[in-house]
Amino acid sequence: MGMTDSFKAHFPEYYGRTYAPKRPDYAKCCARVLGGAYSGSTQCVRKNGHGPDGAYCKQHDPDARKAKNAERDAKWQAERDEKARQADFARECQAAITAIADGHNDPRALAKDIVARLGPK
Ligand SMILES: [Zn+2]
Repeated sequence: MGMTDSFKAHFPEYYGRTYAPKRPDYAKCCARVLGGAYSGSTQCVRKNGHGPDGAYCKQHDPDARKAKNAERDAKWQAERDEKARQADFARECQAAITAIADGHNDPRALAKDIVARLGPK
């Protein structure tokens, strides 16, 4: 990985406490991670080569994080959508059964409509 200015720009001037500053190791990931109680934040120990300008390790690659978050959000949204569909389906089924018990004259059409709109995919 070349040492371009934009590569170097990902790294702070120093890591660690101001009284014990450490120069960046440009072969390693630029992310700050929490060190021990007395070391403050330290440089990530993993090899870089990922993400913008190759300055990050795989774990701290901001693009990979975004993709991972988007994937997780999409999964949650799909779960919420499915729960909402099930609730709508149950509510309409209850109303349909009640209508049929009260003498609805086309129960098959009623059921088909509900299944078409809200049935399991
Ligand atoms: Zn890292």
